Amino acid sequence: MAKLQLVLYPSDTLNQKTKKITRFDSATRRLAQDMLETMYANNGVGLAAPQVGVLKRMMVIDVSGEDEPRKPTVFINPEIIESSGEMTGNEGCLSFPGVFFEVRRRSRIVVKFQNLAGKEQKLAAADNLLCRAIQHELDHLEGQLFVDKAVSKLAAELELSKNGLLGETIDIAQTVKIPAGETELMFG
Ligand SMILES: [Zn+2]
Repeated sequence: MAKLQLVLYPSDTLNQKTKKITRFDSATRRLAQDMLETMYANNGVGLAAPQVGVLKRMMVIDVSGEDEPRKPTVFINPEIIESSGEMTGNEGCLSFPGVFFEVRRRSRIVVKFQNLAGKEQKLAAADNLLCRAIQHELDHLEGQLFVDKAVSKLAAELELSKNGLLGETIDIAQTVKIPAGETELMFG
């Protein structure tokens, strides 16, 4: 196993779509192992392949608590086949060190995926960390990032700015609409 280098925002790699995995061979197993090692080393609960520079449809998740035995799940070619409801909660991302803000997600999902043997699996999750983590990581496989699902764009902007990560993809002037005649806004 080897710990891999994390791809940090802003990077074009994080905006790319990923390719379906068709070979369930030793290279695929090694990628899963390396991603898990990288995730654990960085205290993450999930990691998607683009975050280690690999544009393939693989993600790993382990939402077990610190004092519990590890319970990793490797999702290959995952796809959400049912979803409903809505929930909001705080999220961070290993590609955005130090950045946390509220993100809106579906509150109940069913995900279909393949395991390392290529066998099809289904998993349902509702109102929990697993449900949130699956949606966050699956977005990475589509080249989407949690900044696009922030409950408050401004809160997300401030978090990015505070951590020196303000990219050019979001224009703060479009987020904060300054009413005409109120150009001298006071920021405390
Ligand atoms: Zn992420």
